[in-house]
Amino acid sequence: MKQADLIISGATILSMDAELAVHQDHDLIVTDGKISAIEPQGKHIWQAQETLDAQHCIVMPGLINTHSHLPMSWFRGLADDLPLDIWLNHYIWPLEARLLSKSFIYDATLFGAGEMLKSGITMTNDMYFEMSAIADACIKAGLRALISEAVIEAKMGADYRPSLLVLKYKDLYQDQPLVDFSLAPHAIYTCSGDMLRRCAQAAKEHDLLIHIHLSETAAEVENCLRERGKRPVHYLNDIGLLEARCVFAHGVHIDAGEMEVLQQKPVSISICTDSNLKLASGLAPIKAYLDHGINLSLGTDSVASNNDLDLLGELSTTAKLHKALNNDPAFLPAIEALKLVTINAARALGVEDRRGSLEIGKDADFLVIDTQSLNSMPIYEPASQLVYAINSRQIRDVFVAGKQVVKEQRLVNLDEAELLQTATRYATMIKEELSK
Ligand SMILES: [Zn+2]
Repeated sequence: MKQADLIISGATILSMDAELAVHQDHDLIVTDGKISAIEPQGKHIWQAQETLDAQHCIVMPGLINTHSHLPMSWFRGLADDLPLDIWLNHYIWPLEARLLSKSFIYDATLFGAGEMLKSGITMTNDMYFEMSAIADACIKAGLRALISEAVIEAKMGADYRPSLLVLKYKDLYQDQPLVDFSLAPHAIYTCSGDMLRRCAQAAKEHDLLIHIHLSETAAEVENCLRERGKRPVHYLNDIGLLEARCVFAHGVHIDAGEMEVLQQKPVSISICTDSNLKLASGLAPIKAYLDHGINLSLGTDSVASNNDLDLLGELSTTAKLHKALNNDPAFLPAIEALKLVTINAARALGVEDRRGSLEIGKDADFLVIDTQSLNSMPIYEPASQLVYAINSRQIRDVFVAGKQVVKEQRLVNLDEAELLQTATRYATMIKEELSK
Protein backbone atom coordinates (compact mmCIF):
# COMPACT_ATOMS: atom_id res chain seq x y z
CA MET A 1 0.00 0.00 0.00
CA LYS A 2 1.05 3.59 -0.57
CA GLN A 3 0.53 6.18 2.13
CA ALA A 4 -1.46 9.37 1.45
CA ASP A 5 -2.69 12.13 3.76
CA LEU A 6 -6.32 12.14 2.70
CA ILE A 7 -8.74 10.17 0.55
CA ILE A 8 -11.97 11.75 -0.66
CA SER A 9 -14.02 8.66 -1.27
CA GLY A 10 -16.70 7.65 -3.75
CA ALA A 11 -17.33 10.98 -5.45
CA THR A 12 -18.29 12.10 -8.92
CA ILE A 13 -15.10 13.92 -9.86
CA LEU A 14 -15.39 16.73 -12.39
CA SER A 15 -11.74 17.07 -13.35
CA MET A 16 -11.88 20.06 -15.75
CA ASP A 17 -8.75 18.54 -17.36
CA ALA A 18 -8.04 18.86 -21.11
CA GLU A 19 -10.49 16.02 -21.87
CA LEU A 20 -13.05 17.43 -19.38
CA ALA A 21 -13.16 13.92 -17.87
CA VAL A 22 -15.84 13.11 -15.31
CA HIS A 23 -15.07 10.14 -13.05
CA GLN A 24 -18.03 8.40 -11.36
CA ASP A 25 -17.51 6.61 -8.02
CA HIS A 26 -13.89 7.62 -7.75
CA ASP A 27 -11.46 8.47 -4.96
CA LEU A 28 -9.36 11.63 -4.95
CA ILE A 29 -6.06 10.98 -3.17
CA VAL A 30 -4.11 13.84 -1.60
CA THR A 31 -0.51 13.89 -0.37
CA ASP A 32 1.52 16.91 0.78
CA GLY A 33 -1.12 19.36 -0.41
CA LYS A 34 -1.16 17.94 -3.93
CA ILE A 35 -3.30 15.46 -5.86
CA SER A 36 -1.44 12.17 -6.00
CA ALA A 37 -4.06 10.02 -7.73
CA ILE A 38 -7.64 9.77 -8.98
CA GLU A 39 -8.72 6.11 -8.88
CA PRO A 40 -11.89 4.00 -8.96
CA GLN A 41 -13.35 3.84 -5.46
CA GLY A 42 -11.43 1.40 -3.27
CA LYS A 43 -9.67 -0.26 -6.22
CA HIS A 44 -6.19 1.15 -5.65
CA ILE A 45 -3.05 0.86 -3.56
CA TRP A 46 -3.55 4.00 -1.45
CA GLN A 47 -4.35 4.26 2.22
CA ALA A 48 -4.60 7.42 4.30
CA GLN A 49 -4.93 8.53 7.91
CA GLU A 50 -8.09 10.38 6.99
CA THR A 51 -10.88 9.39 4.63
CA LEU A 52 -13.79 11.68 3.84
CA ASP A 53 -16.98 10.08 2.58
CA ALA A 54 -18.09 11.88 -0.59
CA GLN A 55 -20.85 9.51 -1.79
CA HIS A 56 -23.55 11.51 -3.58
CA CYS A 57 -21.13 14.44 -3.85
CA ILE A 58 -19.54 16.21 -6.78
CA VAL A 59 -15.86 17.01 -6.31
CA MET A 60 -14.58 19.81 -8.53
CA PRO A 61 -11.64 22.25 -8.63
CA GLY A 62 -11.85 25.21 -6.25
CA LEU A 63 -13.37 28.24 -7.96
CA ILE A 64 -10.97 31.00 -9.04
CA ASN A 65 -12.25 34.57 -8.92
CA THR A 66 -10.33 36.85 -11.29
CA HIS A 67 -11.53 40.26 -10.08
CA SER A 68 -12.29 41.27 -6.51
CA HIS A 69 -11.86 43.98 -3.92
CA LEU A 70 -11.94 41.93 -0.71
CA PRO A 71 -11.62 44.85 1.75
CA MET A 72 -14.89 46.42 0.58
CA SER A 73 -16.99 44.04 2.71
CA TRP A 74 -18.28 46.82 4.96
CA PHE A 75 -19.62 48.78 1.95
CA ARG A 76 -22.10 46.06 0.95
CA GLY A 77 -25.55 47.57 0.44
CA LEU A 78 -24.35 50.99 1.51
CA ALA A 79 -25.28 52.93 -1.63
CA ASP A 80 -27.22 50.79 -4.07
CA ASP A 81 -29.29 51.78 -7.10
CA LEU A 82 -26.90 54.55 -8.21
CA PRO A 83 -24.80 55.18 -11.37
CA LEU A 84 -21.14 54.14 -11.12
CA ASP A 85 -19.72 57.69 -11.08
CA ILE A 86 -22.05 58.87 -8.29
CA TRP A 87 -21.55 55.65 -6.33
CA LEU A 88 -17.76 56.08 -6.56
CA ASN A 89 -17.43 59.88 -6.23
CA HIS A 90 -20.11 60.54 -3.61
CA TYR A 91 -19.93 57.46 -1.41
CA ILE A 92 -17.10 54.99 -1.84
CA TRP A 93 -14.09 57.25 -2.47
CA PRO A 94 -14.94 59.87 0.22
CA LEU A 95 -15.60 57.14 2.79
CA GLU A 96 -12.40 55.34 1.86
CA ALA A 97 -10.46 58.59 2.23
CA ARG A 98 -11.81 59.07 5.76
CA LEU A 99 -11.95 55.51 7.09
CA LEU A 100 -9.32 53.29 5.57
CA SER A 101 -6.67 51.94 7.90
CA LYS A 102 -4.73 48.71 8.10
CA SER A 103 -7.14 47.30 10.70
CA PHE A 104 -10.21 48.30 8.64
CA ILE A 105 -8.73 46.52 5.63
CA TYR A 106 -7.59 43.47 7.59
CA ASP A 107 -10.99 43.01 9.27
CA ALA A 108 -12.95 43.51 6.06
CA THR A 109 -10.67 41.13 4.16
CA LEU A 110 -11.03 38.46 6.82
CA PHE A 111 -14.81 38.73 6.46
CA GLY A 112 -14.67 38.69 2.66
CA ALA A 113 -12.25 35.75 2.66
CA GLY A 114 -14.68 33.81 4.87
CA GLU A 115 -17.50 34.58 2.45
CA MET A 116 -15.40 33.57 -0.55
CA LEU A 117 -14.35 30.24 0.97
CA LYS A 118 -17.93 29.35 1.90
CA SER A 119 -18.88 30.18 -1.71
CA GLY A 120 -16.25 27.74 -2.97
CA ILE A 121 -13.68 30.33 -4.06
CA THR A 122 -10.20 29.02 -3.25
CA MET A 123 -8.21 31.74 -5.04
CA THR A 124 -8.91 35.36 -5.86
CA ASN A 125 -7.25 38.11 -7.86
CA ASP A 126 -7.67 41.11 -5.57
CA MET A 127 -7.05 44.81 -6.06
CA TYR A 128 -7.18 47.33 -3.23
CA PHE A 129 -4.81 49.14 -0.83
CA GLU A 130 -2.54 47.92 2.00
CA MET A 131 -1.37 44.66 0.45
CA SER A 132 0.15 43.33 3.67
CA ALA A 133 -3.16 43.62 5.57
CA ILE A 134 -4.94 41.76 2.75
CA ALA A 135 -2.21 39.11 2.61
CA ASP A 136 -2.25 38.54 6.39
CA ALA A 137 -6.03 38.13 6.45
CA CYS A 138 -6.05 35.74 3.47
CA ILE A 139 -3.33 33.63 5.07
CA LYS A 140 -5.32 33.43 8.32
CA ALA A 141 -8.51 32.42 6.48
CA GLY A 142 -6.67 29.93 4.25
CA LEU A 143 -7.61 31.64 0.97
CA ARG A 144 -5.17 31.93 -1.92
CA ALA A 145 -4.84 35.45 -3.26
CA LEU A 146 -2.96 37.30 -5.95
CA ILE A 147 -2.88 40.74 -4.37
CA SER A 148 -2.30 44.14 -5.92
CA GLU A 149 -2.22 47.75 -4.75
CA ALA A 150 -4.62 49.87 -6.82
CA VAL A 151 -2.55 52.64 -8.37
CA ILE A 152 -4.61 55.83 -8.38
CA GLU A 153 -2.22 58.53 -9.47
CA ALA A 154 -4.02 61.45 -7.80
CA LYS A 155 -3.56 59.61 -4.51
CA MET A 156 -0.05 58.23 -4.95
CA GLY A 157 1.61 61.03 -6.92
CA ALA A 158 3.21 60.96 -10.37
CA ASP A 159 6.55 59.70 -9.03
CA TYR A 160 5.07 56.57 -7.51
CA ARG A 161 6.96 53.41 -8.43
CA PRO A 162 4.41 50.58 -8.13
CA SER A 163 6.86 47.77 -8.82
CA LEU A 164 8.99 48.60 -5.75
CA LEU A 165 6.12 47.72 -3.41
CA VAL A 166 5.21 44.56 -5.33
CA LEU A 167 8.81 43.31 -5.28
CA LYS A 168 9.13 44.16 -1.57
CA TYR A 169 6.05 42.11 -0.69
CA LYS A 170 7.02 39.24 -2.99
CA ASP A 171 10.20 39.05 -0.98
CA LEU A 172 8.57 39.50 2.45
CA TYR A 173 5.98 36.79 1.80
CA GLN A 174 8.13 34.38 -0.19
CA ASP A 175 7.59 31.65 2.42
CA GLN A 176 3.80 32.04 2.29
CA PRO A 177 2.55 29.89 -0.60
CA LEU A 178 -1.05 31.16 -0.34
CA VAL A 179 -0.27 34.71 -1.44
CA ASP A 180 1.48 36.40 -4.33
CA PHE A 181 1.51 39.97 -5.63
CA SER A 182 0.87 41.74 -8.91
CA LEU A 183 0.60 45.23 -10.41
CA ALA A 184 -2.69 47.11 -10.58
CA PRO A 185 -2.87 50.42 -12.33
CA HIS A 186 -6.52 51.06 -11.36
CA ALA A 187 -7.81 52.20 -14.79
CA ILE A 188 -6.90 54.40 -17.75
CA TYR A 189 -8.88 57.26 -16.19
CA THR A 190 -6.98 57.17 -12.87
CA CYS A 191 -3.45 56.67 -14.25
CA SER A 192 -1.52 58.78 -16.75
CA GLY A 193 0.11 57.33 -19.82
CA ASP A 194 3.48 57.63 -18.07
CA MET A 195 2.29 55.61 -15.08
CA LEU A 196 0.79 52.92 -17.35
CA ARG A 197 4.05 52.79 -19.31
CA ARG A 198 5.99 52.37 -16.06
CA CYS A 199 3.69 49.53 -15.00
CA ALA A 200 4.07 47.83 -18.40
CA GLN A 201 7.87 48.02 -18.23
CA ALA A 202 7.96 46.70 -14.65
CA ALA A 203 5.56 43.87 -15.52
CA LYS A 204 7.77 42.76 -18.41
CA GLU A 205 11.00 43.16 -16.47
CA HIS A 206 9.84 41.19 -13.41
CA ASP A 207 7.24 38.93 -15.06
CA LEU A 208 4.35 40.41 -13.05
CA LEU A 209 0.69 40.20 -13.93
CA ILE A 210 -1.14 43.47 -14.61
CA HIS A 211 -4.64 43.70 -13.17
CA ILE A 212 -6.61 46.71 -14.45
CA HIS A 213 -10.22 47.83 -14.96
CA LEU A 214 -10.92 48.29 -18.67
CA SER A 215 -13.87 49.67 -20.63
CA GLU A 216 -16.37 49.12 -17.86
CA THR A 217 -18.69 51.91 -19.03
CA ALA A 218 -19.50 53.58 -22.35
CA ALA A 219 -18.47 56.93 -20.81
CA GLU A 220 -14.94 55.61 -20.16
CA VAL A 221 -14.56 54.75 -23.85
CA GLU A 222 -16.07 58.07 -25.00
CA ASN A 223 -13.68 60.02 -22.76
CA CYS A 224 -10.73 58.06 -24.08
CA LEU A 225 -11.78 58.76 -27.68
CA ARG A 226 -12.20 62.45 -26.92
CA GLU A 227 -8.96 62.88 -24.96
CA ARG A 228 -6.67 60.52 -26.84
CA GLY A 229 -8.35 60.06 -30.20
CA LYS A 230 -8.44 56.29 -29.89
CA ARG A 231 -10.28 53.53 -28.07
CA PRO A 232 -8.83 52.15 -24.79
CA VAL A 233 -7.32 48.93 -26.20
CA HIS A 234 -5.50 50.84 -28.96
CA TYR A 235 -4.32 53.38 -26.38
CA LEU A 236 -2.94 50.61 -24.14
CA ASN A 237 -1.40 48.85 -27.13
CA ASP A 238 0.46 52.01 -28.13
CA ILE A 239 1.73 52.36 -24.54
CA GLY A 240 3.07 48.79 -24.67
CA LEU A 241 0.89 47.49 -21.85
CA LEU A 242 -0.53 44.63 -23.92
CA GLU A 243 2.89 43.00 -24.15
CA ALA A 244 2.58 42.16 -20.43
CA ARG A 245 0.33 39.43 -19.04
CA CYS A 246 -2.90 41.28 -18.25
CA VAL A 247 -6.25 40.62 -16.63
CA PHE A 248 -8.78 43.21 -17.80
CA ALA A 249 -11.71 43.52 -15.43
CA HIS A 250 -15.11 44.11 -17.07
CA GLY A 251 -14.22 44.59 -20.77
CA VAL A 252 -17.83 45.51 -21.50
CA HIS A 253 -17.35 48.04 -24.30
CA ILE A 254 -14.76 46.48 -26.62
CA ASP A 255 -15.29 46.60 -30.38
CA ALA A 256 -14.21 44.19 -33.13
CA GLY A 257 -11.06 46.18 -33.94
CA GLU A 258 -9.98 46.03 -30.32
CA MET A 259 -10.64 42.29 -30.18
CA GLU A 260 -8.37 41.73 -33.17
CA VAL A 261 -5.58 43.40 -31.18
CA LEU A 262 -6.38 41.53 -27.94
CA GLN A 263 -6.44 38.11 -29.59
CA GLN A 264 -2.73 38.39 -30.38
CA LYS A 265 -1.73 39.32 -26.81
CA PRO A 266 -1.22 37.39 -23.53
CA VAL A 267 -4.33 38.92 -21.99
CA SER A 268 -7.60 37.73 -20.42
CA ILE A 269 -10.92 39.36 -19.70
CA SER A 270 -12.54 39.01 -16.30
CA ILE A 271 -16.29 39.17 -16.93
CA CYS A 272 -18.18 40.75 -14.01
CA THR A 273 -21.79 40.00 -14.93
CA ASP A 274 -23.57 40.83 -11.67
CA SER A 275 -21.68 44.09 -11.14
CA ASN A 276 -22.32 45.15 -14.75
CA LEU A 277 -26.00 44.27 -14.49
CA LYS A 278 -26.51 46.09 -11.21
CA LEU A 279 -24.63 49.23 -12.25
CA ALA A 280 -26.20 49.01 -15.73
CA SER A 281 -22.72 49.24 -17.24
CA GLY A 282 -23.67 47.06 -20.21
CA LEU A 283 -23.22 43.42 -21.20
CA ALA A 284 -19.79 42.08 -22.10
CA PRO A 285 -19.59 40.62 -25.63
CA ILE A 286 -18.77 37.09 -24.48
CA LYS A 287 -19.58 35.38 -27.78
CA ALA A 288 -17.35 37.74 -29.76
CA TYR A 289 -14.52 37.22 -27.26
CA LEU A 290 -14.82 33.45 -27.57
CA ASP A 291 -15.01 33.68 -31.39
CA HIS A 292 -11.72 35.61 -31.25
CA GLY A 293 -10.14 32.97 -28.98
CA ILE A 294 -9.67 35.42 -26.10
CA ASN A 295 -9.36 33.80 -22.67
CA LEU A 296 -12.36 34.54 -20.45
CA SER A 297 -12.91 34.08 -16.73
CA LEU A 298 -15.35 35.46 -14.16
CA GLY A 299 -14.91 38.04 -11.42
CA THR A 300 -17.26 39.00 -8.63
CA ASP A 301 -16.00 42.59 -8.35
CA SER A 302 -16.70 43.91 -4.83
CA VAL A 303 -19.72 43.27 -2.62
CA ALA A 304 -20.44 46.98 -2.89
CA SER A 305 -21.41 46.49 -6.52
CA ASN A 306 -22.47 42.85 -6.75
CA ASN A 307 -23.64 42.39 -3.80
CA ASP A 308 -22.26 38.97 -2.90
CA LEU A 309 -19.31 36.74 -3.67
CA ASP A 310 -21.32 33.82 -5.03
CA LEU A 311 -19.31 32.92 -8.12
CA LEU A 312 -21.38 29.81 -8.87
CA GLY A 313 -24.55 31.93 -8.89
CA GLU A 314 -22.77 34.46 -11.09
CA LEU A 315 -21.85 31.68 -13.52
CA SER A 316 -25.47 30.56 -13.74
CA THR A 317 -26.63 34.11 -14.49
CA THR A 318 -23.85 34.60 -17.05
CA ALA A 319 -24.53 31.36 -18.91
CA LYS A 320 -28.28 31.99 -19.18
CA LEU A 321 -27.96 35.68 -19.97
CA HIS A 322 -25.66 35.06 -22.92
CA LYS A 323 -27.84 32.28 -24.33
CA ALA A 324 -30.68 34.78 -24.37
CA LEU A 325 -28.54 37.60 -25.79
CA ASN A 326 -27.35 35.37 -28.63
CA ASN A 327 -30.78 33.84 -29.14
CA ASP A 328 -29.10 30.45 -28.91
CA PRO A 329 -29.77 27.91 -26.12
CA ALA A 330 -26.77 25.90 -27.31
CA PHE A 331 -24.38 28.79 -26.68
CA LEU A 332 -21.90 28.28 -23.81
CA PRO A 333 -22.80 24.72 -22.69
CA ALA A 334 -22.49 24.10 -18.94
CA ILE A 335 -19.13 22.36 -19.09
CA GLU A 336 -17.69 25.23 -21.18
CA ALA A 337 -19.16 27.74 -18.73
CA LEU A 338 -17.43 25.95 -15.85
CA LYS A 339 -14.06 26.65 -17.49
CA LEU A 340 -14.63 30.36 -16.75
CA VAL A 341 -14.33 29.75 -13.01
CA THR A 342 -11.70 26.96 -13.11
CA ILE A 343 -9.08 26.29 -15.78
CA ASN A 344 -9.56 29.52 -17.78
CA ALA A 345 -9.33 31.56 -14.59
CA ALA A 346 -6.14 29.72 -13.62
CA ARG A 347 -4.77 30.50 -17.10
CA ALA A 348 -5.68 34.19 -16.66
CA LEU A 349 -3.64 34.33 -13.45
CA GLY A 350 -0.73 32.31 -14.86
CA VAL A 351 -1.26 29.32 -12.55
CA GLU A 352 -2.83 26.76 -14.92
CA ASP A 353 0.15 24.44 -14.43
CA ARG A 354 -0.76 24.21 -10.71
CA ARG A 355 -4.48 24.89 -10.39
CA GLY A 356 -7.81 25.10 -12.19
CA SER A 357 -8.28 21.36 -12.73
CA LEU A 358 -8.01 18.15 -10.72
CA GLU A 359 -4.98 16.35 -12.13
CA ILE A 360 -2.09 14.44 -10.62
CA GLY A 361 0.60 16.81 -9.35
CA LYS A 362 -1.67 19.85 -9.12
CA ASP A 363 -2.52 21.64 -5.89
CA ALA A 364 -5.28 19.96 -3.88
CA ASP A 365 -7.67 22.92 -4.08
CA PHE A 366 -11.15 21.42 -4.42
CA LEU A 367 -14.79 21.49 -3.37
CA VAL A 368 -17.02 18.68 -2.10
CA ILE A 369 -20.58 19.55 -3.12
CA ASP A 370 -23.54 17.71 -1.63
CA THR A 371 -26.06 16.89 -4.34
CA GLN A 372 -28.68 15.36 -2.00
CA SER A 373 -31.06 18.25 -2.08
CA LEU A 374 -34.51 18.52 -3.67
CA ASN A 375 -33.32 21.33 -5.95
CA SER A 376 -30.55 19.26 -7.51
CA MET A 377 -31.86 15.72 -7.93
CA PRO A 378 -31.86 13.61 -9.99
CA ILE A 379 -28.53 14.06 -11.75
CA TYR A 380 -27.90 13.19 -15.39
CA GLU A 381 -25.12 15.66 -16.19
CA PRO A 382 -23.06 16.89 -13.20
CA ALA A 383 -21.83 19.97 -15.11
CA SER A 384 -25.38 21.03 -16.02
CA GLN A 385 -26.48 20.53 -12.47
CA LEU A 386 -23.65 22.70 -11.18
CA VAL A 387 -24.43 25.58 -13.51
CA TYR A 388 -28.24 25.49 -13.55
CA ALA A 389 -29.48 23.87 -10.32
CA ILE A 390 -26.95 23.51 -7.51
CA ASN A 391 -26.48 26.56 -5.31
CA SER A 392 -23.37 27.52 -3.40
CA ARG A 393 -24.96 26.59 -0.05
CA GLN A 394 -24.56 22.97 -1.12
CA ILE A 395 -20.76 23.37 -1.03
CA ARG A 396 -20.12 21.15 1.99
CA ASP A 397 -16.33 21.05 2.26
CA VAL A 398 -13.57 23.19 0.81
CA PHE A 399 -9.88 22.32 0.67
CA VAL A 400 -6.96 24.60 -0.19
CA ALA A 401 -3.52 22.99 -0.63
CA GLY A 402 -4.96 19.80 0.89
CA LYS A 403 -6.04 21.60 4.08
CA GLN A 404 -9.71 21.82 4.98
CA VAL A 405 -10.89 25.42 5.21
CA VAL A 406 -14.67 24.76 5.17
CA LYS A 407 -16.03 21.70 7.00
CA GLU A 408 -19.72 20.82 6.86
CA GLN A 409 -20.41 24.40 5.64
CA ARG A 410 -18.57 26.01 8.58
CA LEU A 411 -15.30 27.92 8.34
CA VAL A 412 -12.39 26.06 9.90
CA ASN A 413 -9.94 28.91 10.51
CA LEU A 414 -12.34 31.76 11.32
CA ASP A 415 -15.06 32.28 13.92
CA GLU A 416 -18.23 33.20 12.01
CA ALA A 417 -19.99 34.68 15.05
CA GLU A 418 -17.03 36.99 15.54
CA LEU A 419 -17.10 38.01 11.86
CA LEU A 420 -20.78 38.93 12.15
CA GLN A 421 -20.12 41.02 15.26
CA THR A 422 -17.27 42.81 13.52
CA ALA A 423 -19.56 43.62 10.57
CA THR A 424 -22.12 45.18 12.91
CA ARG A 425 -19.42 47.22 14.66
CA TYR A 426 -18.12 48.65 11.37
CA ALA A 427 -21.62 49.35 10.05
CA THR A 428 -22.31 51.45 13.17
CA MET A 429 -19.08 53.35 12.61
CA ILE A 430 -19.82 53.94 8.91
CA LYS A 431 -23.37 55.14 9.64
CA GLU A 432 -21.95 57.65 12.13
CA GLU A 433 -19.44 58.81 9.54
CA LEU A 434 -22.16 59.28 6.92
CA SER A 435 -24.31 61.34 9.29
CA LYS A 436 -21.51 63.85 9.95
ZN1 LIG B 1 -13.41 46.42 -9.72
